[in-house]
Amino acid sequence: MSKDSLQSSIPAFENVVCPICKSQKYLNPNMKILVSPCFHKMCESCINQRYSHGAAPCPVCGTILRKTYFVHQTFEDLHVEKEVQIRKKFGKYFNKRLEDFGGNLRQYNDYLEEVEDLSNINY
Ligand SMILES: [Zn+2]
Ligand SMILES: [Zn+2]
Repeated sequence: MSKDSLQSSIPAFENVVCPICKSQKYLNPNMKILVSPCFHKMCESCINQRYSHGAAPCPVCGTILRKTYFVHQTFEDLHVEKEVQIRKKFGKYFNKRLEDFGGNLRQYNDYLEEVEDLSNINY
């Protein structure tokens, strides 16, 4: 399997690449990823180095950051990203309204139940 095809099979939220050292989270499972207030993800060791003497610009967008501004990428973050992906995927489907069923409340309720089921799928 080539490196490219391997990478494309990894969901984006798991394959975080540190913009400073270019380490990939996927290849370094022990790498700690922290997220800046400007939503850029970097590894903990780079953050420790870069921000050890106080404020410094974000390597991606230039926002002035401090070490204490970074937060750990938590499971909740991943969950939210997953949720966003799922919603994108089903976005059209999720956005139906009663009018789309010609005002048929019964069909609409069935649809709502179905959406509920889809939302609970454990990806
Ligand atoms: Zn790094
Ligand atoms: Zn940034």
